[in-house]
Amino acid sequence: MPQAIFKTLSVIMTNAVNLLDLDPIGLVSYCENLGEKPFRARQLQRYIHRSGISDFDAMTVLAKSLRDKLKICASIRHPAVLKDRTSADGTRKWLLDVGEGNAIETVYIPDQDRRTLCVSSQAGCAVNCYFCSTGKQGFSRNLVVGEIIGQLWMTEFALRAAHGSPFPGKRVITNVVMMGMGEPLLNFDAVLSAIRLMLDDNAYGLSRRRVIISTSGLVPMIDRLADELPVALAVSLHAPNNSLRDKLVPLNKKHPLEELMLSCSRYLRVAPRDFITFEYCMLDSINDSDECAQQLLVLTRRISCKFNLIPFNPFPESRLLCSSPERIRRFAQILIDGGVITTVRRTRGADINAACGQLVGEVHDRTRALMRRKQNIIPVLRGSPRAI
Ligand code: SAH
Ligand code: SF4
Repeated sequence: MPQAIFKTLSVIMTNAVNLLDLDPIGLVSYCENLGEKPFRARQLQRYIHRSGISDFDAMTVLAKSLRDKLKICASIRHPAVLKDRTSADGTRKWLLDVGEGNAIETVYIPDQDRRTLCVSSQAGCAVNCYFCSTGKQGFSRNLVVGEIIGQLWMTEFALRAAHGSPFPGKRVITNVVMMGMGEPLLNFDAVLSAIRLMLDDNAYGLSRRRVIISTSGLVPMIDRLADELPVALAVSLHAPNNSLRDKLVPLNKKHPLEELMLSCSRYLRVAPRDFITFEYCMLDSINDSDECAQQLLVLTRRISCKFNLIPFNPFPESRLLCSSPERIRRFAQILIDGGVITTVRRTRGADINAACGQLVGEVHDRTRALMRRKQNIIPVLRGSPRAI
């Protein structure tokens, strides 16, 4: 190809709109700007998000003239894969390049009927929680819609291609959790656009109960989520009182626990599930005493909730240790005896560093290997729901 034509084509392709950046409303406006009717946007969306087709020539239901236009002014691009690892337990983790030296992670966690994708919302994170390796990397930038939904798009169709028949006619990914890198409520608009695609019947068709946003507790944004698109909510609590939470989750100084509990109560009025999940990272001798568990029961007494205890995943700079399995069991039992359903997260994909933020740093730490061996023997505990 002559150099000049090649250069012109490259410029057009780099400026081409990435259709993964457009949510259902955005795609309708885009098609209208091309002089097309809204139903064309739905057809296009089905090709992209239901069939995983990125070759415009293969979108034969669309008029040839539209396909030709799209070939010139649009493209479908997900972040490039830097690493792709599968664990012995079936957990699969991708490291994706989002440019300028930034990488993000996406983790697929199959578990019986549930096949969950853990999605990142930011490159790095500004909240800087005491025990989080993503926080320690600092904040680089918000991901755009195409980089968020691109994680689901790329993995769903890669998994379909790999599995072929085990899930015939079905989606591979049944649940999405916004628990990868970053604070999703600090990238509100892009996260919501991506979730609109996740929920759309002409895309992934997931129910609001099966999409979970996990937040460190941005009170005004929890209220906004309640107003705009209430999906299932997980709140990272990690401490039962303000003095400890101020240290572990610095955002607590701005939005203390009393405010956070009130926003959780408000959220429950519109939430798709009748409970909020409180995540609690188990840190040896820091937040794992019997007294902490008892304080948690008091703090959350007016809230319909479940606890998910997360064994801390050590990384070298953290200089922290995970609570012992016995301590975690005892802590869980106090919550269960207090009437709150409590589960302990099983460690998945330990052989591929599948925990949040760890493939990016590719850290090697002998304490982690020891911890993993301990964590693998923790059973999942269940209690009976507490009356509210
Ligand atoms: N920023 C959001 C979502 C991403 S983090 C949030 O904080 O909720 C997802 C969960 O992993 C959070 O509960 C977070 O506190 C927890 N987490 C972070 N680092 C961890 C570590 N090293 N070990 C165990 N859990 C960790
Ligand atoms: Fe950010 Fe969540 Fe890590 Fe805190 S735990 S630093 S909010 S990613």
